[in-house]
Amino acid sequence: MTIFYEKCSGFSIFETELLTNIDMYGKFQKHLSDELAAIKEAGLYKNERNIASPQSAEITLEDGSKALNFCANNYLGLADNPRIVKAAKAAMEERGYGMSSVRFICGTQDIHKRLEKAISDFFKTEDTILYASCFDANGGVFEPLLTADDAIISDSLNHASIIDGVRLCKAVRYRYANADMAELERCLQEAQAQRFRIICTDGVFSMDGNVAPMDKICDLAEKYDALVMVDESHSAGVVGPRGRGVAELYGCYGRIDIFTGTLGKAFGGAVGGFTTGRKEIIDMLRQRSRPYLFSNSIPAMIAGAAIETFRILDESDELHDRLVSNVSYFRDRMLAAGFDIKPTQSAICAVMLYDAPLSQKFAAAMAREGIFVTGFYYPVVPKGQARIRVQLSAAHKKEHLDKAIEAFVKVGKELGVIK
Ligand SMILES: *Cc1c(COP(=O)(O)O)cnc(C)c1O
Repeated sequence: MTIFYEKCSGFSIFETELLTNIDMYGKFQKHLSDELAAIKEAGLYKNERNIASPQSAEITLEDGSKALNFCANNYLGLADNPRIVKAAKAAMEERGYGMSSVRFICGTQDIHKRLEKAISDFFKTEDTILYASCFDANGGVFEPLLTADDAIISDSLNHASIIDGVRLCKAVRYRYANADMAELERCLQEAQAQRFRIICTDGVFSMDGNVAPMDKICDLAEKYDALVMVDESHSAGVVGPRGRGVAELYGCYGRIDIFTGTLGKAFGGAVGGFTTGRKEIIDMLRQRSRPYLFSNSIPAMIAGAAIETFRILDESDELHDRLVSNVSYFRDRMLAAGFDIKPTQSAICAVMLYDAPLSQKFAAAMAREGIFVTGFYYPVVPKGQARIRVQLSAAHKKEHLDKAIEAFVKVGKELGVIK
């Protein structure tokens, strides 16, 4: 420390103190380095792939190599859609770059209101509130609406942002096993002790690709006097005859009180989130939801591009139809090749391997074949349930799907997964 001290002799006391803290950081640094080494040791260290092209079915990496992408949430293939790029540019030309404000002070433009209307039309709801992300939408949806007198009943596989949102709220918490309606019913019976009850669930669960049984959830909600909230991040644009999400799939329009969702997956894949639903609920969120009140407006280019996204989806079902046929094409051929695939009702296809190291070996071998897929294992999925997750997109062409299936078969045989 003396060296620092001598060097610091001309500094103010405040600055000297800052430098003295380097000593403090030394201990913390060691702590972090040890933790990071342990993460690497466990094979859980996350590396990033540097893409040097737009997000798409086929991507170019920084080193110039190409790969087929089967691990993006680009379900409708809109991430590089020329109409959306053009709409983003036009909105930036017309309304500028940033808003430098939260919505309620001076961060609302006409296009923010138009986007909220487009989302309400898509989900057939009364009103919509925009957030910077769905993470924020979920973080800000419970605390303004419920108190310690109320109950939140949450599916055990709900997204991290719902879990965090629930933590920020004082309501009594109940949890039921994934999509288990008997457990949900028991929770609802217990929760009769509270004033209001809300059931919250993901629409599509991202690890298995299964859809929440919304019809049964709504029936139970009716029977036990509960509100219903669903996070449509992986389901909107994907499930339902026209890709309108779980309400369309189960015919439960009018029975779901709150939907949350993202603009970062099927709807163009940039950023932004929303909560849409009953008028008074949205109005209360505008008054009290902290990520809305204390975080910036989404920029005009995102709003303008998202409006164009909903226009494209309104004009034609072509992209959704293509996604659905890509999913069945891929699933059928993988089953025929002998792979064990979870029954999927979405654009997520879980290829079961069960063994954790095998899932990592498999994903790495696929990457060498130029196919990006993700291997998941405990704690992301239950122990002994390791898998490869494949995400299909409307952007995938038949030759992309064939190439991926071919690689799966080759690697599957090499690693003894199929015969
Ligand atoms: C991706 C996802 C989110 C987060 O969405 P962002 O807009 O990226 O913050 C929230 N909920 C679920 C279920 C998701 O899959």
